[in-house]
Amino acid sequence: MKKIENIEIYEDDNNTGKMTTATEVSVVEEKKFVPYGDYHTHTNFSDGEGTLEENIQQAIKLGLKEYAVTDHAFKHRASGITLANFHLQKRQVELFRERYPQIKIYHALEGNLMGYSGLLDIDEYKDQLDFLQMGFHKSASNENFATWWSFTATNLIFKPSEKKIEKNTLAYLRCIDRYDLKFVNHLNYGILVNVKEIAKACVERGTKIELNGKRIFFSQKEVDDMLETGVDFVANSDAHIPSRVGDVALSIEFAKSHGIPLEKIVNLNKSLFSDM
Ligand SMILES: [Zn+2]
Ligand SMILES: [Zn+2]
Repeated sequence: MKKIENIEIYEDDNNTGKMTTATEVSVVEEKKFVPYGDYHTHTNFSDGEGTLEENIQQAIKLGLKEYAVTDHAFKHRASGITLANFHLQKRQVELFRERYPQIKIYHALEGNLMGYSGLLDIDEYKDQLDFLQMGFHKSASNENFATWWSFTATNLIFKPSEKKIEKNTLAYLRCIDRYDLKFVNHLNYGILVNVKEIAKACVERGTKIELNGKRIFFSQKEVDDMLETGVDFVANSDAHIPSRVGDVALSIEFAKSHGIPLEKIVNLNKSLFSDM
């Protein structure tokens, strides 16, 4: 981000004893805010452009203390990680932990909500992940065709009724109850939910709500409702290119403009895992 700054320079170059002023315009680089950790990023093993190592190098360059790779999980139709690449990435993470001891690296996946049961497509592999996180993605496949139609397709085709929103919410509540989730991603993206009910469940389970660095879909009323529950937030880049790793500018701007105290965003100055 570039910023024009006016600098006033006071000179006495003629030795007259009288100060004159000159204004110089210079372009300075505005310092980017860097969170303690970024816990939602993608590589070219899903729909990201960079390699895991490029993402890690960018995180180190920025000064992040923690970094998580969280590629789209298996049931994301267009870009889900393959099982072979998941195992390969696990070995890469171990290698890079040794190569880059200055940063703490976590291995996780962005789980896909599969339907009203609250099931995630990472269910079978949850014990192999450093932490769990999830989101709804319209391009994820479901448990079966009937679930795809009733859960995914109808949300995309029709404007959801209040009843439908309550049903969607129930899917999230079951998921939050079923898994030990660290956070839920980009709520209201592709599927409308009752965020207040989800926030209440998150408080009970110690789950955070993500302020996504790419997209945020909360009204002011929803923000106020969430704050009332006491829920905490996490700011992540959701970077799909290495240069966006650690970029939570949108999350911070949203928080400031909607009255979310920055202390409620747990990963700005400390680890997301510091309360464990
Ligand atoms: Zn996502
Ligand atoms: Zn993502």
